[in-house]
Amino acid sequence: MPFESERVSAAMRRTVASRARNLCEYCRCPEEFSPDSFTIEHIKPRQAGGETIVENLAWSCSGCNGRKHTKTSHCDPETKLEVGLFHPRQQLWSEHFSWNDDFTQVIAKTSCLWSSNSVSSAIKSGWSR
Ligand SMILES: [Zn+2]
Repeated sequence: MPFESERVSAAMRRTVASRARNLCEYCRCPEEFSPDSFTIEHIKPRQAGGETIVENLAWSCSGCNGRKHTKTSHCDPETKLEVGLFHPRQQLWSEHFSWNDDFTQVIAKTSCLWSSNSVSSAIKSGWSR
């Protein structure tokens, strides 16, 4: 199986982390304030044919990585339509999310969900599907 032999090199990790300025590309949590180490996340999962190339890799906190897992979409609880999850290479985070006043929660502005340690019950239920 090709994807099992595709490893993320140390150079790729440094490139992806540097590009993200050491922030989780999904919830914008700074790595330096996280109790867990950050990881490389395949935006398009390998199981879905996503390649291990820098353009398909995102710097992610363990919470976002674990909750996203292999998902690329979710069912919007209001419209019941399948909606793509936030794509850090194709979308601007600030157009889809913001922080609340005390920076303890990520607020979704659109139905393009994301996030881990954050958020409304709607978002969390989106993850668990
Ligand atoms: Zn995160």
